[in-house]
This record gives sequence, C-alpha cells and structure tokens, in this order.
Amino acid sequence: MSNKIKSIAVLGAGTMGAGIAALAADTGCKVLLLDISLEAAEKGKNIMVSDKAPLLSDLSKISNVKIGTFNDNFKDIVDYDWICEVVVEKLDIKRQIFEKIESFRKDGSIVSSNTSGIPLRDITEGMSSRLLNDVCITHFFNPVKVMKLCEIIPGEQTSKIILDELKIFITNVLQKGVVNAKDTVNFIGNRIGCYWMLRGLHEGKNSRELGLTQEEIDALMSKPMGLPPTGLYGLIDLIGLDVMYSVGKNLAVNLPKEDVGLNYVNLPDEEQKLYDIGQLGRKTGGGFYRIKKLDNGDKLKEVFDLKNSNWREAQKVILDYDLKIILDDGVQGNYAWNVMGSTLLYAADLIPEIAEDIVNIDRAMKWGFAWSKGPFEMIDELGPHNLIEKCKKSGSIPKMLQVLDSSGAKSFYTNDGKYLSKSGHYESIPK
Ligand code: NAD
Repeated sequence: MSNKIKSIAVLGAGTMGAGIAALAADTGCKVLLLDISLEAAEKGKNIMVSDKAPLLSDLSKISNVKIGTFNDNFKDIVDYDWICEVVVEKLDIKRQIFEKIESFRKDGSIVSSNTSGIPLRDITEGMSSRLLNDVCITHFFNPVKVMKLCEIIPGEQTSKIILDELKIFITNVLQKGVVNAKDTVNFIGNRIGCYWMLRGLHEGKNSRELGLTQEEIDALMSKPMGLPPTGLYGLIDLIGLDVMYSVGKNLAVNLPKEDVGLNYVNLPDEEQKLYDIGQLGRKTGGGFYRIKKLDNGDKLKEVFDLKNSNWREAQKVILDYDLKIILDDGVQGNYAWNVMGSTLLYAADLIPEIAEDIVNIDRAMKWGFAWSKGPFEMIDELGPHNLIEKCKKSGSIPKMLQVLDSSGAKSFYTNDGKYLSKSGHYESIPK
C-alpha cells in the first residue's frame, strides 16, 4: 500500500505536540501546528530549531511547519490528511477539540488523540459515526524523537483501512515501532510501567525499615533488571510526582474492580507529603534527588531521605547482580521480587485484556520505557516454572503462565523466532 498521508495537523504545541510535529516535518510532511495562542504555537516551533537540543534533525525542514491558533486557523485543518490532537490531558477539553475537528475536517481524513491514558470511548462518546469510523489513539512516548513506541488503539467502529494506512505511515515514514493496544485505561506501556512505579514506591517503605536505602533501590531497579540508569526514584523525578498523583487518580476510577493495581493508586504517606509541599521532581528543582551547587563551583547530588525526612549526600551504589536476584530471599531479592517480580506476573495476567499477545506487551515496554527486555523475555530468563512454583505458594497463577503450564511449553519464546500465543501454540513473531 502506498503512503496516503502527506500532511498532518497537530493540535497542541506543547512537549508532545512539538515532538510529533517535528517528527513529521523532518520526513517532508506538511505540518500545521495550532495552539490556544500564537505565542504557544511559536514556542513549540522554536523548540524544533533551538540551539540546545533541536527536535528537528534537519533544521531546514522547519519550512514544512505552519503555525496558527485554534481561534483563527481551525478551519485550515480541512487541507490535512491526519489530524492529531495533543492538548492537555483533560477529558472535557479533548472532547471540545474533537467536536471542532469533526466540523472542519475533510472526508477521509484520519483523526487521533495522543492521550496517555484516557479511553477513546470516553473522548468520542456520543459523536457521529463519520468520526467513529476515522478515529483512533496514537500514543507516542516522550521524548518523541528518541522513543520508538507508538501505541495504536482503535475504537469499536474504526475502519481497518484507516488503521492500516496510519500504521504504514507511522512505521515506514515516521520510523516508529507500532504496538497494537486495546481501549483500556493507560493502554499497555503506562498500565504496566505505572504499576511498576507505584508498587515500587509502596514497597520502598517496608524495605527502608529493613535497611535498604533509596540509592540501593535505584541501583537495584536499573542495570540488574535491564532498566534505564534512572532506576525508580530517579525516573519519577523526571516524570514528576504530580503526574504520578494524577495517574493514580485516573487508575483508581478506570481500573477493573478486581485489578491488583488498585492497591497502589494512592501515593504512600511520605511521597504524598512531598506532593503536598510541591517537591515534585526535576521541574521543581528537586524531588527525591537534587543537584546542589557548592561555593567552589562543584556539584553535589543529594537525596531526600524518606526515612528521616532530610536531605543528605547521595551515595554511589553499584550492584553486581543480574535479573536472578529476583529469586533470592534476601532484603534486596525480596524488594526485587515484590516490585519487578510482581510486575512480570501483572503483565502475564493482562492478556487478552490489554493486548492480544506477549509480543505487543514486550515491545511496548522495550520501545516506550527503554527496558532492555520485555516482561515475557524476563520471565523466560528467570525460568517460567520458577515463577509458577512461587505463584503456587500464593495460590494464583497469572493467565499466560497458566497457558504455558497447560500447553507443556518451557518458554514464551523459541530460538527459531516463535512466541507462545494465548491459545498455547507457538506462532511466528510478526515483523
Ligand atoms: P503540554 O502541557 O506540554 O502541552 C499541552 C498543550 O495544550 C499546551 O501547548 C497548551 O497550550 C494546550 N492547552 C492548554 N489548555 C488548553 C485548552 N483549554 N484548550 C486547548 N489547548 C490547551 O502537555 P504534553 O506533555 O505535550 O501532553 C499533551 C498530551 O500528550 C496529553 O494528552 C498527555 O497526556 C499526552 N502525553 C504526554 C506525555 C509526556 O510525557 N509529556 C507522553 C505521552 C502522552
């Protein structure tokens, strides 16, 4: 199929809107970038060519980008093939924008939202079948230029032709990795990633009582697990405790009633106190960590010790473990089991709820969260039957581990490029 998408209107010129606009403009696509004011749209355009870290790889491609405002230029979207909504994460605002999109767009254009976790059915509830036919979610990850993942989530009526066109464009032209997700809260990457983060914070308290420091937790939740060097607290500093707070509130409302994640949707007391005083992370000059400038010009990394509620010098911790520490019965092993181990089991219980197969889940975590292995690849490394034995003690075995057990399979992936499907048969891994 040839690429039919040649132009894209990006509605919202913030962090993600500017990133998506730059990605498309870089490939030669015609881009319209709108925001509530001309200043906001200009700001987005300027970031694309900023001296420090330009979003565009080829600065001359800025000529592909036209800017404007929602008030004056909304009607111009009629000339664009794909209209991508990237405004603030507020349902009522997204719905207003969608109503407006529907009244101005041309027949056959594709409409998508970049929401991080609001179900598509909530955004489009009660809207025309013309829109429902052409709409989906395209969830790019931050920073758009770097992260490979784009989750695509269709609605119940989305046409297959539209979805195929978009997937081809995002894969072949934008060079991103498409993962097929379902219209469930937080989709795939954020559903599993946020469980890992929130569970990690909750388990932190017990482990601190047993003598584990936050630096040790971060050292454990990075290289040994095949995760990025920020670890847990460092990653949440980057994301912002305010975002984690909102994510938790959204999960509280939208997770299925029996979901184990419901136990972790509120911030633990210590983190809630930081949220209350506005100590949110890098955006507020410090969260769990901060960089202090000393009189002699040197920089000192400090950690906010949650046990004693004070700042102290952060210790450098290097742990020479690998993933197998999860199966160890010491303080560190128990933390790793309770956080990473439980995340693997959580993922293994989410098929078919959030994805049709393990490949989409593994790709989402590798391409969106920069994990070096996906949950099912990690389970293979640990030995699926080691996990099944541990689960038997607690009484419940996650769905995909049950599939593996009853099909007699020994691993989720084979050496000849196959994966275990939800029906218990090996199938070829799609490209
Ligand atoms: P942002 O705050 O950087 O940008 C949001 C844009 O929305 C701003 O340009 C702002 O001017 C505009 N806006 C504010 N109020 C508005 C209103 N009333 N009507 C119309 N527009 C308004 O936010 P962002 O990080 O770019 O997030 C945009 C979307 O992408 C959200 O849905 C978010 O959940 C999602 N998302 C964010 C990330 C991330 O890490 N930042 C990652 C993936 C998805």
